[in-house]
Formats: sequence, C-alpha cells, structure tokens
Amino acid sequence: MVNELPGPVAAALKAAVGAEGYVDDPAILAPHLAEWRGLFRGAAPVLVAPGSAAEAARVIGLCAAARVGVVPQGGNTGLVGGAIPHSRPGHPEIILSAARLNRIRELDAANYTVVAESGVILAALQAAATAAGRLFPLSLAAEGSCQLGGVVSTNAGGTAVIRYGTTRDLVLGLEVVLPDGSVLDRLRVLRKDNTGYDLRQLFIGAEGTLGFITAVSCKLFPAPRTSGTAWVAVPTPAAAIGLLAAARERLGDEVTAFELMSRLAVDLVVRHIAGARDPLPGAGPWYVLLELASSREGAHPEADLEAFLGWASDRGLATDAAVAASGAQQAAFWRVRHAMSEAQKHAGASIKHDVSVPVSRIDAFLEQAGAYVAGRIPGVRVVAFGHVGDGNLHYNLSQPEALAAADFLALWGEVSAGVHDIAVGLGGSFSAEHGIGSLKVGELQRWRGGTEYRLMQALKATIDPLGIMNPGKVVTGPA
Ligand SMILES: Cc1cc2nc3c(=O)[nH]c(=O)nc-3n(C[C@H](O)[C@H](O)[C@H](O)COP(=O)(O)OP(=O)(O)OC[C@H]3O[C@@H](n4cnc5c(N)ncnc54)[C@H](O)[C@@H]3O)c2cc1C
Repeated sequence: MVNELPGPVAAALKAAVGAEGYVDDPAILAPHLAEWRGLFRGAAPVLVAPGSAAEAARVIGLCAAARVGVVPQGGNTGLVGGAIPHSRPGHPEIILSAARLNRIRELDAANYTVVAESGVILAALQAAATAAGRLFPLSLAAEGSCQLGGVVSTNAGGTAVIRYGTTRDLVLGLEVVLPDGSVLDRLRVLRKDNTGYDLRQLFIGAEGTLGFITAVSCKLFPAPRTSGTAWVAVPTPAAAIGLLAAARERLGDEVTAFELMSRLAVDLVVRHIAGARDPLPGAGPWYVLLELASSREGAHPEADLEAFLGWASDRGLATDAAVAASGAQQAAFWRVRHAMSEAQKHAGASIKHDVSVPVSRIDAFLEQAGAYVAGRIPGVRVVAFGHVGDGNLHYNLSQPEALAAADFLALWGEVSAGVHDIAVGLGGSFSAEHGIGSLKVGELQRWRGGTEYRLMQALKATIDPLGIMNPGKVVTGPA
C-alpha cells in the first residue's frame, strides 16, 4: 500500500494520542481526504487528533524523526486545498486534526479577551462571547464547521472586516507546536507588548506550513445592543461604491457589513436553496446588504437606515430598499448572502476567483474582467458577490449552458491568470482571503517572486528545515 507508515511509527503515534485520537479506518478517513467542493482529493494512512499541546508536540516530534509529513486540518472548509494530504510512495503524510482541542480555556470579560484551543468551532466561540456579554466579531458562512485554528491559519476575513478587521487584527497570542516538536508559548492577552519581533504574525495566515496551532488568545468587543439590516437595490457597482462612501461618512463606525451581490447570484439562491426568498424580487441588476450595529443605549439602527436610504435614493445611489423589520427577517437576508457558494453548485461547473482591489476600483475591475471572460468564454455566467466594503469580490464563473463541464474547467488556469492579471493590474491581489494552499502555489511565485518570495522560502527553511509541515503548500523550493 502506497500510504503506509512504518510500523513502529504508527505504533508510537497511537501511543502518543491513545486509541480515541488515532483513526486508520478508511471509511472514517474518507471525508478528511477531500475538500468540500471536490476540487482536491488526497491520501493519508492515518488521522491523528491530539488532546493537548503536549500530545501534539509528541506527534510532531515523532513525525520529524521519521520524516513523515504533517498536514494540519481544522474544519476542512478551506477552499484552496490547504488541508488535504498527498501521501506518495515513500513519502507518507498524516492528517493532524485539531478536533479534540476544543476547550475554551479562559474568557476574561473585563479584559475583553478569550483564550481558546484551536479546535473550537467558530460559532461556539461566538456563542461563548455572547453568553459573557461580549462579541467575537469574525463571521463567515462556514462558521458552523470551521475552527479557530483554521481561521487563524488562513487569516480568514468574512463579513465584518469593514469594522473589526481580519483575523490578524483579532489575534493577541498563539500557542504553536513547531516542526521540531517544541512548543512556542506566546499566548499573551496584552494589547501592548513591544518585545522584539512579533512572531505571532508569522503563523497567522501560514496555512499550517510553519507549525500546528494549539491555542489562540483573541480580542473581544462590546456586544451590540441593536442592529439593523437593509437589502438595497443599486443600479451599478459604481453606485454601490458611492453608497458605501456615503454610509461611512453619515453612519460612521456603526457600518458592520457591506456586501455586494449580482442579480444572477441572488437568482441562483432563490432557485436552488430551499426556503430562500428574494427580498426585492426583480428590482435591479445589483444588490447591497448593509448592516449597522450599535452598542450605544438609545441607538435606533433601523430608523438610521431608513433615513439614510431615503437620502441615498434621492441621489440615485439606491433604486429600492427593504429594511428588515425583525430578527427573523435579518436572518433571512443573510441567508440569501451566505447561501451563494452552495447555490452556485447547482449551476454546473464553476471557476472561482477570490480577488481584492482598492474599493474605488471595484467597478473598473468588474468592467474589465466582464469583458475579458465574455470574450474568452462566450455565454459564461458571471456570479459575482463579496465583501465589497473591503474591496473583496468572489468573482465566480459558471459554465455556459452550451459548453461541457470538462471543456469549461480545462480553461481554469488560463482564465484565472487573465482575471488575476486584471486585479493585480488595478493594484489588487489574486487571493484576498482564501490563501494559497495547493491551488495558487504557481500564482504566488508569479506575483510575489523575487525578494518577497525568497524571504518566504528562507523563513520556511529556518522554521521547518526538514520540510515536514504541510509539504507542497504555499511556498515550495529551497531557500
Ligand atoms: C461556504 C463557505 C464560506 C466561506 N466564507 C469565507 C469567508 O467569508 N472568508 C474567508 O476568509 N474564508 C471563507 N471560507 C473559507 C474557509 O471557511 C476559511 O478559510 C476557514 O478559515 C477555514 O477554517 P477550517 O477550520 O475549516 O480550516 P481547514 O480548511 O481545515 O484548513 C485551512 C488551512 O489551515 C491549516 N490549518 C487548519 N487548522 C490548523 C491548525 N490548528 N494549525 C495550523 N494550521 C491549521 C490547514 O492545514 C489548511 O492549510 C468559506 C468557506 C466556505 C465553505
């Protein structure tokens, strides 16, 4: 069997974590070997799930000694193949799962901080903060499955970046098992700590290539008392950008989400997702989901939204709008937004892009990319949506009805390179929030080559000289 571990290594790993943390049954392993979109499938002889940082350190120490690859896995909701192992003959890779590291170690409401283990599900962390009268603001459609270690390792963004920043802005400290099996204990809960290089930043967004995160200390925020959510029809992306600028000027920091969606993206959700309803049926070509939240006593976000949207429609920035009248209606609006990736699966094969550009160039990007993809793939359906308040668009393409899926997918490399050229040409990025994983290794070399890439290789070689952590992902090749 190509994936086998040497017998003594397998026995030592099992002894390190106990039977409950050691899985070699192919049926149980199977879902851990494929990414949810089906784009990546891999192989591994075992999944090992330590119950503590000490156990994780023993596992990685054993793997280093035996030159066995270690692929960290959280909720396996990543979108670039980062958590999928690829064992080859003579080069076994194990999955190192954080699933049993699921304790919240300390929540200090007065310090506005929480220390949690890396396998805590994001929604559980949000709930723990809420129960303590605080807010953990990171929110994304995969929050019921993705884990704290995964969101830190991908520097996840989500829907509230416009107000609270990305995961990088929310992390105060980390506990990490390094590739030699030692533990970096930098789990501090301080907002001010200028003591040398900020090592925590190296591991945030490293996608498991520099170590295995076992615990994280995070910032918390005042819990909002009230929130208001509007579904707004806008005539053009340029009007959406005008609406965003006006919302920030007139409503200030209370703007917590500003999501842009194309008509086609909304149509797919309404057509394919059970129970989803169009908040403004047929109202226009583009929509914005705008949310305000306030911790102030006496705040009235719904009334503020009504007044603001009246002002905006007088200036042609909005053509129609619905302000949610209840929590259930707010949830229904968000459901449409969150179901977009799922709904697109029903429209056949897709080629996806996760790009960012300066907010002021969103409409230029949509125009240039639209002309490019229509010329290259006649009949292609553009399903564009995203966290446009951060300049981030999921610029997804669904196969034309007249083209076979395989022929469409064969164009992925060429078309993605063209779309990335346009984003980068406008001062943007070819990977806004999903990272590099396996999918974008070549693009990282193409766009971050030279000094920046060499420095990344040097860091990788210094921290992981044996190259056992998540082999082949993100940065490859010698320093
Ligand atoms: C429907 C849907 C919506 C999404 N929306 C967003 C969004 O809005 N914003 C966004 O940024 N992302 C989004 N994503 C992508 C994904 O949810 C995030 O990247 C998430 O952070 C991954 O967390 P995870 O626990 O599932 O990690 P995994 O997928 O298991 O792993 C992701 C990467 O992190 C590494 N890793 C995982 N755990 C650890 C650990 N403990 N230590 C070291 N490395 C580790 C893995 O090796 C891999 O490289 C979405 C995904 C889906 C399916």
